[in-house]
Amino acid sequence: MAERFIYADNSATTNISESVLQEMMPYLTSSYGNPSSIYRLGREAGAAVENARERIAAVFGAKPKEIYFTAGGSEADNWAISSTAHRLGEKGKKHIVTTAFEHHAVLHTCKELERQGFEVTYLPVGEEGRVTPQQVSDAIREDTALVTIMFANNEIGTIMPIGDIARVCHEKKVLFHTDAVQAVGNVPINVDELGIDMMSMSGHKIHAQKGIGFLYVRTGVALPNLIFGGAQERNRRAGTENVPAIVGLARAVEDACADIPAKQQRIMKIRDRIIDGILDGVGAVRLNGSRTDRLAGNINMSFLGVEGESLLLMLDLNGICASSGSACTSGSLDPSHVLLSLGLPHEVAHGSLRLSIADPITEEDGDYIVETVIKVVDRIRSMSPLWEDIKNGKPGTENWLKYVSPIK
Ligand SMILES: *Cc1c(COP(=O)(O)O)cnc(C)c1O
Repeated sequence: MAERFIYADNSATTNISESVLQEMMPYLTSSYGNPSSIYRLGREAGAAVENARERIAAVFGAKPKEIYFTAGGSEADNWAISSTAHRLGEKGKKHIVTTAFEHHAVLHTCKELERQGFEVTYLPVGEEGRVTPQQVSDAIREDTALVTIMFANNEIGTIMPIGDIARVCHEKKVLFHTDAVQAVGNVPINVDELGIDMMSMSGHKIHAQKGIGFLYVRTGVALPNLIFGGAQERNRRAGTENVPAIVGLARAVEDACADIPAKQQRIMKIRDRIIDGILDGVGAVRLNGSRTDRLAGNINMSFLGVEGESLLLMLDLNGICASSGSACTSGSLDPSHVLLSLGLPHEVAHGSLRLSIADPITEEDGDYIVETVIKVVDRIRSMSPLWEDIKNGKPGTENWLKYVSPIK
């Protein structure tokens, strides 16, 4: 059998691209100075950090001093939400609005704030996985400190109307934060035009290295310290800068945000070919999320009578890296909170598959994915007693069949 390898888990992480690595190289080797040192080697590193900040700011229509480098998306989310809650909580604003299907970096921060006495509204996202500006507007109260809503969902790829959501927040004079980790490189983002007050971003989803990201904070929005120590990041986050990672991040952001429409068209065409191929080839399946308003490279499907983990293992044996909606790694067999937030029964959510494709995927790779998924799903079902029950119409199973295409 020909050895194939297709990486279809780009929403989990990506490789470091050649162009990013090339930009990082000098700062991993010869230009190793500390940006705070005053001799030339240090000044060079310092200039590289500030240059990266300017380049990143330019891409998003921000000012360089509004960009704070962090150790990734989770840190940026934690910082934005916790610091704002604590700062405004002291003034009696102890309410936060978010959605039920945020990334855990946001959800678990909100859970911790609840433990500390804050109140959090988790907006439902409906069967398609989206929130409306009206829902946000209705949820805002006198004591709301912050609205935090993701730009694009990492599991089902739906894109939120962020500009309109920001507008209703501002009408009610409430700060708006968005986790834009999955949106960068997919949706053109101008923080001024969209009215975003704070925005989190991570490098490793767009071909920079792991452990680097940034938090954008609009001028005039107070930002309490995250780490005490040296004067790095305008005194807000101490610690010698990760110069190579920061330089690589700038390049990754520029690359990701260049020619978005052309890149998207190519990827979307392959995405739709995969979706249609799978929908044609297997029964009792559903596409999760919106058919149209979704990230170019995102495919998320649930197969009735299939265990997500078995599917992943068998795809791996066939050279395909993908992910599933179930949190098997955490030792629990709970399906993903995102899929449950769409209102899917556990049995449907359990057999889920997320493929996140990106360059350099080809149409041929797409066809191989379709062929392999169909083969593997049939195989798993042929061994599944649960699938037998479903096919035989065992009472109770009709409640699951409502959510999927007819059995083939
Ligand atoms: C990956 C991801 C994060 C976390 O970013 P890290 O850099 O891995 O901490 C946060 N939010 C979303 C939507 C993500 O996809």
